Amino acid sequence: MNAVGAPARGRRRARVRVTGTVQGVGFRPYVYRLAGELGLGGYVLNDSHGVLIEIEGSADAVDRFVARLRCEAPPLAVVEQVLAEERVPCGEGSFAIRDSVGGQVPDAPVTPDTATCEDCVRELFDPADRRFRYPFINCTNCGPRFTIVRGVPYDRPLTTMASFAMCAECRAEYDDPADRRFHAQPNACPECGASLRLLSGRGEPVAGDPLAATAAALRAGAIVSIKGIGGYHLACLAASERTVAGLRARKHREDKPFALMAPSLTVADSLVSLDPVSRGLLTGPPRPIVLAPRRPDAPVADSVAPGAPELGVMLPYSPLHHLLLADVGETLVMTSANVSDEPIAFVDDDALERLRGIADLFLVHDRPIQTRTDDSVVRASPRLTILRRSRGYVPGALSLPGAGTPRPLLACGAELKNTFCLARGSRAWVSHHIGDLENYETLRSFTDGIEHFGALFAVEPEVVAHDLHPEYLSTKYALDLDGVELIGVQHHHAHLAACLAEHGERGPALGAIFDGTGYGLDGTVWGGEFLLGDLRSFRRVGSLLPVALPGGERAIRQPWRMACSWLSCALDREPGLPSTLAGRVDPRAWAQVHRLAAGGSPAAPATTSMGRLFDAVAALAGIRAEINYEGQAAIELEAACDSGERGSYPIAVHAADHPLVIDPRETIRAVVADVASGESAGVIARRFHRTIARATVEACVALAGAHGTSMVALSGGVFQSRLLLESVSDALADAGLRVLVPERLPVNDGGIAYGQAAVAAASMA
Ligand SMILES: [Zn+2]
Ligand SMILES: [Zn+2]
Repeated sequence: MNAVGAPARGRRRARVRVTGTVQGVGFRPYVYRLAGELGLGGYVLNDSHGVLIEIEGSADAVDRFVARLRCEAPPLAVVEQVLAEERVPCGEGSFAIRDSVGGQVPDAPVTPDTATCEDCVRELFDPADRRFRYPFINCTNCGPRFTIVRGVPYDRPLTTMASFAMCAECRAEYDDPADRRFHAQPNACPECGASLRLLSGRGEPVAGDPLAATAAALRAGAIVSIKGIGGYHLACLAASERTVAGLRARKHREDKPFALMAPSLTVADSLVSLDPVSRGLLTGPPRPIVLAPRRPDAPVADSVAPGAPELGVMLPYSPLHHLLLADVGETLVMTSANVSDEPIAFVDDDALERLRGIADLFLVHDRPIQTRTDDSVVRASPRLTILRRSRGYVPGALSLPGAGTPRPLLACGAELKNTFCLARGSRAWVSHHIGDLENYETLRSFTDGIEHFGALFAVEPEVVAHDLHPEYLSTKYALDLDGVELIGVQHHHAHLAACLAEHGERGPALGAIFDGTGYGLDGTVWGGEFLLGDLRSFRRVGSLLPVALPGGERAIRQPWRMACSWLSCALDREPGLPSTLAGRVDPRAWAQVHRLAAGGSPAAPATTSMGRLFDAVAALAGIRAEINYEGQAAIELEAACDSGERGSYPIAVHAADHPLVIDPRETIRAVVADVASGESAGVIARRFHRTIARATVEACVALAGAHGTSMVALSGGVFQSRLLLESVSDALADAGLRVLVPERLPVNDGGIAYGQAAVAAASMA
């Protein structure tokens, strides 16, 4: 405290270091305004560590500046640390934004695409604003980023906005540190920016206002392909059964659910039950598709998500969406524009070519998309899980534990739901969702993406991590590279490591890793694994009982084959065709598959896959004999569960064996008995889920005790089942174990690349 009569507190000068996501998010203009408001002199600049500030003025004002800096930061900034230290005042009275200090490599030069902010939405619908109804309005706090970037530094000439010269008014906003559009690279207006065009199904221009015509066509039942932020969507009225069924037929997509875009949160609320976390996700800047339980009276066509207990809903995230949804006034199906398994279309001519015959109209614009990016998919309950991490989240960096990687590295990921990961120091950049690496298009996204990320984040890989599966295209890509050190990482170890590293842990821990397929150390197909390990290495301490995978890949597409295999194993004789599969499976094919399963043929390799066990039970329960998309049988088995059922089946957990074995042969026999006695699929499904959860918990508790660890990681695609994840994680927590579940990356193979990076980094440290 200053005593009365003492000299007024004098001038002070402080140097403030701010780290986190503070570049390209309007942080410097924010600092400029704050300093101006408080009457402070000094400067702000970007450097390789983040933002550096020096401020000078009255001691009170300096204190207030530091106190407000963190809590009033711009919406897209993520402030990790604010460190202030005293400096000697030098009499600086004015404040300036100084040029960035170059030479060093910034850690976060490019941020994710962000939903239109409230200020821009207000201007969009304000008839007095010069951007009234301009479908490409944006500012420093919102708009496209990652999808328009061609290179670094992140500056207009190196974005797909390069060909649009700013008009005088836009330029004045862009140059004014006090303006919301200061250095907003995609800044534009109707005078100088991108514009919309409407094309017929044959690609010919349609006269009139493109938006009004599109809205009218949609209301009349048309299917319109709409160019968005990360690619083309196919849109149509969600409530019209005829229209949605037509879209399914044209897209050759039989069952996989379509995502919806609702005009408002209120409408979204009428489609699905929303908890507070889901609401936050729906309205937050990344604006993903949020999966939530569908309301029984949801006004959507049955064809939107046949047999699914959840609907995937999102809210408008671009100004174009806001205008269109406001004009149509109804919920739209908004699904990636592609044909069955191809990746989302994002290049104009290619989109027109590929979607000919699917879309009645094309609503296009002339701002190119640099990187194809799908909508992200998340679920809030029972806990936050990301099923697809892409637009809105990518290219946000994750940390690697400890000192990170001593050498720059690339991790190539797996085959399905591929992502790759580049890492330098303690930072890891996981790519957008590439998709299933099974055709030329996705493979090109993969190779182009690696090059693009390498340039953006200045990573020239010296070390390359890859899966052990020799046939994965991602593995082949890695093995073809010259002059790099290769590190092979076992698939399920990568799952375990990804989960640990995301939580800043290095292990050792127990991992219960359940998925469909992963190449095992013994060359067999793993997928129901208990691993004890850290980031460097692991031991397989338990698994599901091995069974034949009759016909390899075909057994994945035809769950009835797994039903036959498990039955053959459980009965130890040729099983009769269950009544639930009669008429759906040719009895001769059934007998053939039995011989394949029983005969130890190379066409029926051994597998411990948990995903395939779920498939087998889904087939036995009569829910699904063949699938149309990955994971469909398990998804429908979960959806069928009778929530009132409290029973379960016998299952053997051989905890004294090394490695431990979960033997579900009794379970299979009990399922067959239930089928024979006419028990409903819902009861069977629920009993089976409860059985697997119980066995998993029993195995985890036994293994954690035997190996002296209290940390359990749950991962792998099978844990996309909310029922299984919830019951297992709750019971493990009740047993006093610390449960880790992936939260920032998918539990499915979308998280593999990061796990490979974590293993490679740890093994070099
Ligand atoms: Zn904005
Ligand atoms: Zn302009």
